[in-house]
Amino acid sequence: MEKRDYYEVLGVSKTATQDEIKSAFRKLAKKYHPDINKDKDAPEKFKECQEAYAVLSDETKRKQYDQFGHAAFDNNGAGFNPGGFDFSNFDFGDIFDDIFGGGFGFGGRSNTRARKGRDLLKRISITFDEAVNGCLKEVELDIYEDCHKCHGQGGSGSKTCPTCHGKGQVTQEQRTMFGSFMSKSTCSTCGGKGTIFENTCNECKGTGKIKKHVVKKVRVPAGINTGNQLCIEGAGEMGVNGGPNGDIYLEFSVKDHPIYHRQGNDIYLELPISVTDAILGCKKEVPTIYGTVKLTIPAGSETGDKHRLKGKGVQGVNSLLKGDMYVVLDVVIPSKLSKEQKKLIEALSKTDLEDDSRFKLIKKYVD
Ligand SMILES: [Zn+2]
Ligand SMILES: [Zn+2]
Repeated sequence: MEKRDYYEVLGVSKTATQDEIKSAFRKLAKKYHPDINKDKDAPEKFKECQEAYAVLSDETKRKQYDQFGHAAFDNNGAGFNPGGFDFSNFDFGDIFDDIFGGGFGFGGRSNTRARKGRDLLKRISITFDEAVNGCLKEVELDIYEDCHKCHGQGGSGSKTCPTCHGKGQVTQEQRTMFGSFMSKSTCSTCGGKGTIFENTCNECKGTGKIKKHVVKKVRVPAGINTGNQLCIEGAGEMGVNGGPNGDIYLEFSVKDHPIYHRQGNDIYLELPISVTDAILGCKKEVPTIYGTVKLTIPAGSETGDKHRLKGKGVQGVNSLLKGDMYVVLDVVIPSKLSKEQKKLIEALSKTDLEDDSRFKLIKKYVD
């Protein structure tokens, strides 16, 4: 592949100022840095613009390049970079601080910043009754407490990290099949803090926190429903660099009840009634979450008829109003009849039971 012109690589003119060159490189480095860009050809593109920048940002090398092109650096470098400038000794340190510092996501000084630990989500299953009435629930949690031995410090006798000299980061040359590029990473000796302890606490291994398994009694408020969450502050992942721990969110899932079906704060109950009760009407005892009530079912009731029991639903967590209960009738047709029952039904069938507009409508369409 023909080596591309350095000005073309950075997308600047031959008369570009140093500021324009730096700004063009900054944009491209952000775009192609292999820590950010996972495309297959990103390392090669990144290397290409690094090389272009290393030459054009140096007035002497730029002059040489303007005069001789890539040939200016033919005899330069370690041999793994034929026909181009060997930039493996070039210090990108400052510009990488510029580019990647200040909350760009990695590198920079953000590693030393105190950060809150990540929040966690834990799913808790509760019964219908526990959800409606509220309950105390035992929840097993791993929490991070300040280490008692070092009082959360992680050790004693702070000193500058000898690996990164206090910067918290190390610049490394990474060699790939496309050649090498410079990369910044968090110092593994100090974890990005820039300092290490003379005596690291052996209890917490320098983190200042101890993981503790606890069983916590959590008060679940009455009225909670599937998907509702409760937050327990500080029970999430460990904070970084002295930052506070994350929180844990308990998300509830309410188990099905054998007869009640909850929709929001309303409760639905399917009530089976016999054919004769449906025909003649009746009074029925209906279970509610507040005790049994008597419901009057009028004569001529049908499957699907709905009766509202006002205020017999669930008291919502954040509402003063209770939901309602809906009793939905299910007229059960007997599949087995005694001889006597059959006789009675047969006698009934000889009478006219089709005095209803729905029968008449269909008859209109029958030839
Ligand atoms: Zn270090
Ligand atoms: Zn400790």
